[in-house]
Amino acid sequence: TVEAQWAHQPDHAAHVERVRTAFIEKYGVEPDGVWSAPGRLNLLGEYIDFLGGSCMPMPLPYRTYVAGKLRTDGVLRAQSLQMPHDERTVVVRDIRPGTLKGWFTYVAGVAWSMNQEESEDITLPASFGADLMIDSTVPVGGGLSSSAAIECSTALTLLDLSHSLRENAGAALPSTLTEDTHDLRARLAQVCIRAENKVAGAQTGGLDQTASLRSIPGQALVVDFRDFSLQPVDVNIQDANLSWLVINTNTPHELAGGEFAARRRATECATGALNLDYLRNALPDDLRCAGLSEAEAKHWRLSTVDERANTALSAMEKFTRCTEVPRGWIRHAFHDMCLVERAAYVISRTGADGIQAWEELGRLFTESFVSMRDELQVSREEINVAVDTCLDAGALGARIVGGGFGGAVMALIETDKLEDAATAVARAYAQHGYAAPEFLPMSPGIPAQKDA
Ligand code: ADP
Ligand code: MG
Repeated sequence: TVEAQWAHQPDHAAHVERVRTAFIEKYGVEPDGVWSAPGRLNLLGEYIDFLGGSCMPMPLPYRTYVAGKLRTDGVLRAQSLQMPHDERTVVVRDIRPGTLKGWFTYVAGVAWSMNQEESEDITLPASFGADLMIDSTVPVGGGLSSSAAIECSTALTLLDLSHSLRENAGAALPSTLTEDTHDLRARLAQVCIRAENKVAGAQTGGLDQTASLRSIPGQALVVDFRDFSLQPVDVNIQDANLSWLVINTNTPHELAGGEFAARRRATECATGALNLDYLRNALPDDLRCAGLSEAEAKHWRLSTVDERANTALSAMEKFTRCTEVPRGWIRHAFHDMCLVERAAYVISRTGADGIQAWEELGRLFTESFVSMRDELQVSREEINVAVDTCLDAGALGARIVGGGFGGAVMALIETDKLEDAATAVARAYAQHGYAAPEFLPMSPGIPAQKDA
């Protein structure tokens, strides 16, 4: 009989050592340091960060590690243990959007993007170069944001390595090591977003990089993407004997690039047609439905989504470049915006309302999944089977994490039922003849940092 395959609990210290050793094996010298940045579990809010919606990411214990050593000849060299036999070299000042291909765009793109900054504390000195060795415990292409993990760990590495080359070294230079790095981390997140958009060519919003660089240890964030302001939230599920079940479905999301960009374009058309800065501003300021029962809040949500989607779609009819936008794409955007803000409110009520609040949270997750499947149309059979099996196994809720078309599924479930649910998913996959899924032990992680 089929058993669930659980990944190892990530051992942070062992991974720092592993990437350091790999660096020494390749380059024959000690690195100057090791830096790392986490992937993220997005609890709720997909395809809405670029519309000014709020999302709710939590840092994963799975991270990308970079061992780095300064060079002073302007050359950037890198190798990733996840991409063996593919060492890359580039002259930093030659990096441009469109000239590089593949995984290295996520690394070189960060160096390029740092040099697009106005402020000299982030731009790299002319002679700056580096040797890098990269290793990751984040599933690559699994919807848990290995892309932001590699960008953000690279950004910290390059910034800290460049210190000794800076003219006013020692003066009030920002370092990722100093206590107060909030402003610096916010700016580095923008650097990494630009790298992903312009050099890697993925039209994602700012969710992943914000989570990786700006999370609070052990906590989820509610990020308002109109101004990138953040509110930490304690999602204290263990006190309610609940757990996250995180499933890497091992289904590739090749389709994702073009499909993602099409949905982004379409929903941004709605923003333009309504003459707004952010589509989020088409909704009322307060989406929490504070004081309303679960049923009342749902009723309010669905009627608000309907009404605003109608308004948006009729405004869009007058814009030729907005034609043939599926109604469901617009509805999903409004719907998920409402769900996130209700979820943040519901979490704040778990102390007072106990299991009822957690149950509502679970149903909000599933409601978002149904919207991603039926309205936004980014699910696939393997995802549906994982979600349905989790719900049948007693999960309070389950959903896709990330852009869909494959990747990861998460469920909120009683800790007692966790193992059985994983086994049920593994067996359902075997019955359908799908590749075996992998189950990832989950505890909240910490943001990007210097490790050694
Ligand atoms: P996700 O962010 O959900 O994991 P993406 O498609 O956004 O998926 O990013 C995956 C891409 O990021 C990979 O195809 C690869 O180019 C790059 N990447 C991520 N992690 C690594 C790594 N450890 N080594 C090399 N490239 C990586
Ligand atoms: Mg990504």
